Amino acid sequence: MPATNGPLQAILERAHRIPGLTHFPGVDEITRRLDALAAEHPDLVTRRRIGTSRLGDPITMYSIGTGPDEALVYAGVHPNEPIGFWTAIRLAEDLCADEELRTGCRWNIIGCIDPDGTRLNEGWFDGPFNRVHCLEHFYRPAPAEQVEWSFPFQYKTAYFDQVMPEAFALMRVIDELKPTVAVSLHNTELGGVYYYVTKELEGFVAELHAIAASFGLPLELGEAETPVARPLGPAVYEMISAKATYDYTESLGMTPYSSSGGSSAEYAERHGTVSLVAELPYWTHPANDDQTPADEPYAGVLVRMADALGNDIDVMLEIFAAARPHLSGDSQLVRATDAFLPYLAKRPERDRLRAAKEDPARIATVAERFGLTDVHRSFRLRFGGMLLRALEGEIARGSAAAAVHPLARRMRSLYREWQDEAATLDHELRTVPIKDLVGVQYAATLALLGAVRREAS
Ligand SMILES: [Zn+2]
Repeated sequence: MPATNGPLQAILERAHRIPGLTHFPGVDEITRRLDALAAEHPDLVTRRRIGTSRLGDPITMYSIGTGPDEALVYAGVHPNEPIGFWTAIRLAEDLCADEELRTGCRWNIIGCIDPDGTRLNEGWFDGPFNRVHCLEHFYRPAPAEQVEWSFPFQYKTAYFDQVMPEAFALMRVIDELKPTVAVSLHNTELGGVYYYVTKELEGFVAELHAIAASFGLPLELGEAETPVARPLGPAVYEMISAKATYDYTESLGMTPYSSSGGSSAEYAERHGTVSLVAELPYWTHPANDDQTPADEPYAGVLVRMADALGNDIDVMLEIFAAARPHLSGDSQLVRATDAFLPYLAKRPERDRLRAAKEDPARIATVAERFGLTDVHRSFRLRFGGMLLRALEGEIARGSAAAAVHPLARRMRSLYREWQDEAATLDHELRTVPIKDLVGVQYAATLALLGAVRREAS
């Protein structure tokens, strides 16, 4: 553990006490654990229903501690990102067990803001935790159905107000609490650790680095998740926003995507809330923080990977278009595929335009080349898996049109090829213990409040 200041040291000691974890909790387990805690500590925990999911699950918030500060922590904004479920549970447990932790701040914890989407990911929460298995059972909602990106948004020609009940529940809570700090619990899949924060806070970048280092996790020093992200330091970025993405897309001469909204952090900023996102990977690869030059220009890698992704998306679009008239419109998987494939189809064009703006002589780092190559690998496993589940799910319902069968077979065989390719990388990947992932997120959450308080004093 590196030398750190007193308050951070205390946070890290707490974070390192998280016990070993062997699975991710699904919706019912999250509720069971948090309800049990509330029943055990009726004097400490206030339990309140704040909304209902579209398919009928209640959404509950658990508040622990006294003010004056209000902290809001919410998991499941992307239901394919379950590390935060444990972070929320562990934080609630520690707040009940440790009076010092709850002094001066009321922690408002939402264990799962998107139960419907989470249930569609539960097929991989018990492992085995290899990428091929996880992504075959992966579900990411359509952009307009992601709680994170479905807050009201109006900017230039964009207008979005189709706020879902789940996002609306979170919106009401944000407006009621006007939180000092908010932590939107996300995670990534493969790579290093990186963070987003809405405000530059004195000393916070160094603390975030120290937290990742204390768990032996590398920082993500390769390709940023999006070219829009403005670095505040290595692997720490200013929070990305729908506005910034709009402007960037426009600057490339492309039409901005306007079928989703703003983020929860963008929404909370009206109350002066400082928001944090800590992105943690299940797997790391030695290339993730390798800054040595690769033997290929950066622009060349961008174009090569844009072509590869473009080809795979074209095939998926063709299969989906042929099957679409025969698929159930009320399936989350069908709606997500409907939204994602045309959206992803624009990415190769964006990356070719980016490449044209790059210095053709600049050599990519090993980290950048690996990151770009792996985006292609991960995207086709994710979205190919969802398309396959939509097709095979239609067949499993027992009423699929004859036309769906050959399409499902074709997609299954293509998907196997993609899985086989991805599996060749498995022996190079390190699976990070779940308790370490939770530990980093937990420590970053507590450190955020500390950094904001330092700034205010
Ligand atoms: Zn996310």
